[in-house]
Amino acid sequence: RRPGPVLPESLDWGKGDGLLPAIVQDADSLRVLMLGYMDEEALRVTLDTGLVTFYSRSRQVLWTKGETSGHVLELLDVQTDCDADTLLVLARPRGPTCHLQRPSCFPRAPAAERPPLPAELAAGGVGFLAELDALVAGRARERPEGSYTTRLFEAGVRRIAQKVGEEGVETALAGVAQNDAQLLGEAADLVYHLTVLLHARGLSLPDVVEVLAQRHRG
Ligand code: AMP
Ligand code: ZN
Ligand code: ZN
Ligand code: ZN
Repeated sequence: RRPGPVLPESLDWGKGDGLLPAIVQDADSLRVLMLGYMDEEALRVTLDTGLVTFYSRSRQVLWTKGETSGHVLELLDVQTDCDADTLLVLARPRGPTCHLQRPSCFPRAPAAERPPLPAELAAGGVGFLAELDALVAGRARERPEGSYTTRLFEAGVRRIAQKVGEEGVETALAGVAQNDAQLLGEAADLVYHLTVLLHARGLSLPDVVEVLAQRHRG
């Protein structure tokens, strides 16, 4: 996707010394990564180079995020808010965004440490699959230590594909010879490993949904 049609000259630069706050959001997980400020030149450099660039208020220079750490933010899109005085930057981070080596400057516990989902969401919503997909995307990128998903990614696509095969066979067997709880357990294993396989190939569950929806229309 190419950067959206944000025109630097159409923005309201007048309110804060020629600087606009720029909220950076992970384009895949939609997690807020950091807040920086851009002047008109920083925005132009961002759009021209595809690497998110700010104006450093403390150093008073343009600052391409990652210029020393290598942890750049690859630009996907820039949007403005309703009155054109704030920027929303959608980016893919190459490494931790925060200089404290955390994925985001804003603390949010990894999913494993978060309280369990409310029962009605976990049980009722097929939309939870989107959350699972985003979680797996995050694991693929951040590779947190001690995570089973990280181990799968590090074992490689062949190993993951093998797991999908095993879980597929187990689901098929459970479908004819086991009780509902056992079938659901195997189906859950299959969906999870399938999600990991898709991400190992740079794809995602939403890509599968798109194919399904297209077939439905066609
Ligand atoms: P980097 O742009 O990642 O090469 O980092 C260069 C310097 O910019 C760091 O030493 C920090 O002082 C600062 N810095 C990097 N990332 C952030 C961030 N997310 N928020 C605020 N300052 C940052
Ligand atoms: Zn509004
Ligand atoms: Zn505004
Ligand atoms: Zn930070």
